[in-house]
Amino acid sequence: MSRLVLKPGREKSLQRHHPWIFSGAVGRVEGDPQPGDTVEVRTALGGFAAWAAWSPKSQISARVWDWHESQAIDDGFITERVRAAVDHRRRQFGFDEPRAALRLLHGEADGLPGVVADRYGRLLVLQLSSAGAWRWRDTIAAALREVTGLDIVFERSDADVLTLEGLEPRVGPLRGKAPEGSIEIEEAGLVFEVDPVQGHKTGFYLDQRDNRALLRGLSDGRSVLDCFSYSGGFALNALAGGASRVTAVDSSADALAAAQRHVGRNRLAADRVELLEADVFKQLRRFRDENRHFDIIVLDPPKFAPTAAHAEKAARAYKDINLWAFKLLSPGGLLFTFSCSGGVHRDLFQKIVAGAAADAGVDARVLHHLAAAPDHPVSLRFPEGEYLKGLVLEQAP
Ligand code: SAH
Repeated sequence: MSRLVLKPGREKSLQRHHPWIFSGAVGRVEGDPQPGDTVEVRTALGGFAAWAAWSPKSQISARVWDWHESQAIDDGFITERVRAAVDHRRRQFGFDEPRAALRLLHGEADGLPGVVADRYGRLLVLQLSSAGAWRWRDTIAAALREVTGLDIVFERSDADVLTLEGLEPRVGPLRGKAPEGSIEIEEAGLVFEVDPVQGHKTGFYLDQRDNRALLRGLSDGRSVLDCFSYSGGFALNALAGGASRVTAVDSSADALAAAQRHVGRNRLAADRVELLEADVFKQLRRFRDENRHFDIIVLDPPKFAPTAAHAEKAARAYKDINLWAFKLLSPGGLLFTFSCSGGVHRDLFQKIVAGAAADAGVDARVLHHLAAAPDHPVSLRFPEGEYLKGLVLEQAP
C-alpha cells in the first residue's frame, strides 16, 4: 500500500473531515501509486489520517474515501456508499414513478468524491470526474444496477474539470443497451425529453426542480421572460402556472427546438410562447430598445466562474445581465436570478445583484433564497459542494 505523508501541521482540515488534500499539503509519497489508487494518508508525525484516492495530475492530490484506519477500501465499501445514497433518495423522494428523474449520487455529500449519478426513468447516467472515481467505474456501475434494479448505465464523463485531473472524456454505454435518442421524464406532471448523449451535463438540470415549481406558483396571469432557457424548464412551468405570455431566450437552437417540442408534448398553449435564439446579453438590450417589460424574469446563466480565479470576470457578467433585467421588470415585478458558479459565493452574488439594482436605479426586496434541490445535498464538512444559489427579488412598485 502506498503512503502519502503530509507536511508538518497540514492535517488540520483532514481532522475536520474535509475530504480534499491539496498538492501544497503533501510532504512526500512512498511507493509508486498509480492514478486512482488508494493511498494511506499519514501526518508528518506518523499518525493515521485517512484513506484517499491518488490524483497525481490534479491540484487536489488526493480525495478521502474514509477516515477510519480499519476500513478497507474495496468493492464492498464502494457498493455500500452507493446503497446508502440510493436508500436515502428512496426514503426522501420515492422511487416507483417510472419516469422519475433525480440525482442518486452527489459526490462528496454522498461520500463519493468525483462521482455523480442521475436517474432518468429506466436510465442511469454516471458522470465521473476524478482519478479515484475513474478507478472504481465498474464497481459503481454494478452497484447502481444492483441497488436500483434499473439495467442501463450510460457514462457521461465529459465535465470540464476532467482536464484538471488529466483524464480524457468518456461518453458511452457502460451496462445495457444505450438508448437511441431521448427518453421521457416527468417533473411535477410535466413531461420533458432528456438526451443523455447530446444534452447538457447528464441531460437535464435536475438541480432547479424546486425553483421551477416556485416560479409555477407565482406565474398566473403574468408575463414571464426565461433567459438561458435550455429546453424550457422554467418556461414550461410558467405556462403550466397560467402565465399570460412566456418568452424563452437561449443561444442553442437545439435547446429551443426541444423547448418547442415540450410545449406540444404537454399540450400547453403554443400561442402564448415566444422562443428566441439569441445571446441574452444582446437580447436584453434589444428588449430595452423595444421598450418591452416583463412581470417575471428568470436569469439562469451557465457557469461564468468555475473557480475563484474567474470570479472578477464572472462578477461583471452577472452584474450586466441583472442590471438589464431590473430595467426590464414591470413595477412590482419578480426577478429569479441564479449563479451556479462555484467561484462566486452566496454573499458575493447578493452583493453583485445589489450593485446591479443600484446602477439600474431600482429598489428591490429579497423574497426567497434558493439553492439546488435536496437530492443535491451539501455536506457541512464540504461547503465547496454548494454551487447553485439564487434569489427571488421583488422590485419596488
Ligand atoms: N434554466 C435551464 C438551464 C439553463 S443552462 C433549465 O432549467 O433547464 C444554461 C443555458 O444557457 C444553456 O442552455 C446554454 O445554451 C445557454 N447559454 C449559454 N450562454 C448563453 C448566452 N450568452 N446567451 C443565451 N444563452 C446562453
